[in-house]
Amino acid sequence: MTTVTENFSFNEQVNRNFDRAAALTSHDAGVLSQIRACNAVYRLSFPLRRDDGRVEVIEGWRAEHSQHKLPTKGGIRFSPHVNEDEVVALAGLMSYKCAIVDVPFGGAKGGIRIDPRAYSVAELERITRRYTYELIRKNFIGPGVDVPAPDLGTGPREMAWIADTYMATTSGDLNALGCVTGKPVGQGGIWGRTEATGRGVYYGVREACQNADDMLAIGLTPGLAGKRVVVQGLGNVGYHAAKFLSEAGALIVGLAEYNSAAYNADGIDVEVAFRHWQAERNLTNLPGTTGTTRSAEALEWDCDILVPAALEQQIRKENAPRVKARIIAEGANGPVTPNADDILTAKGALIIPDAYLNAGGVTVSYFEWLKNLSHVSFGRMERRYEEAASRRLLGAVEQATGKRFPEPEAASIVHGANELDLVNSGLEETMCSAYAAIREIRARHKDLIDLRTAAFVGAIDKIAGSYKDLGIWP
Ligand code: GLU
Repeated sequence: MTTVTENFSFNEQVNRNFDRAAALTSHDAGVLSQIRACNAVYRLSFPLRRDDGRVEVIEGWRAEHSQHKLPTKGGIRFSPHVNEDEVVALAGLMSYKCAIVDVPFGGAKGGIRIDPRAYSVAELERITRRYTYELIRKNFIGPGVDVPAPDLGTGPREMAWIADTYMATTSGDLNALGCVTGKPVGQGGIWGRTEATGRGVYYGVREACQNADDMLAIGLTPGLAGKRVVVQGLGNVGYHAAKFLSEAGALIVGLAEYNSAAYNADGIDVEVAFRHWQAERNLTNLPGTTGTTRSAEALEWDCDILVPAALEQQIRKENAPRVKARIIAEGANGPVTPNADDILTAKGALIIPDAYLNAGGVTVSYFEWLKNLSHVSFGRMERRYEEAASRRLLGAVEQATGKRFPEPEAASIVHGANELDLVNSGLEETMCSAYAAIREIRARHKDLIDLRTAAFVGAIDKIAGSYKDLGIWP
């Protein structure tokens, strides 16, 4: 079954965006079709014994889109809507995403067609371990081959099961922990991975809002402070994006989930809303807000920035004309269909594309993989040394001036970077420099192309470059 919305399946949507950008490059047609093609798809099914004794057949996929760099990388989603077209589309997006943010991986994606809420923890563990075992058998997982991560419906717990299953079958592989990322910190994970995608969304939106010319072009003033934001999705990406945007001074006026949405023009407290959502699974009765069960309407609410952070193909040709936001910040993968993209672009909205904006997750996954291969946590060697050096410097300044720094200030000056500080710094650097690179590509095309096309041009140039280094293509 393919997801057919309008004229494009999800994979056709990704390919259309690719083709638009490819037409602006001068690469050989052969190299372009190799970049676009999905190299391998493994479809598998296996039996699950349910807790009540019944046997059920579980269906899953793993797609490896491009091996121009190894390992391939991308999450695994547990969702009743998973299908091959979706997994292939998401794997392609991963290749372009990694290239855009200079993460040296090819793209991949996996999916299991289940509603995780309909299974017990023990059943989920059996499903995850068996899926991992099947990937091992076909060489579709490994620290230098293909490295899964969390996605919709999965998290650190599933990643820990994957790592454990892999390690149990590969005794003696020193790098085995690097077979999957997004693990719990105690099992080889890294601080900051859970919130990384949402934090990356915040950095990307902040970069876009900082640019006075870009803001003027869409009728907004520069800066994030006071901008009215609607977020669709209170999962890991949406919640953290809303949290960081509001901490930076943006006003979260609307929050939406699949069954309900809440609005308050004066702003919603993200923490209160998140706790409420977790307890009640309903936003219609969020205190101090106006609620509705017609949650899709939230996409059309009056705001400056709309962050679709739920599923693909949410903004379509039917609702795009009614979208009022001037900035569409794609936290989810593929939330805007091609027809909607044309409508929004014609209306002059600024779309910050998924393949750039939600790359924070894979960026920090890269840091986690590096940590697993190096077998030492970031900051462990230098932290104390840096603190002692800064303490000495501060002491010398105090002696020369005859003044003492008050303790909280002194502590913040001498603070040596720990793993979380370094992860966040690496993430911020990645998101800022990638945004600048995309804008530069757009400027090279005399600002006649949108950010998505510019991002794809950048990705295609980089991937084509690595094929050319092989000497196969001109
Ligand atoms: N599932 C996330 C994504 O779509 C993260 C992938 C990863 O960390 O490998 O980007």
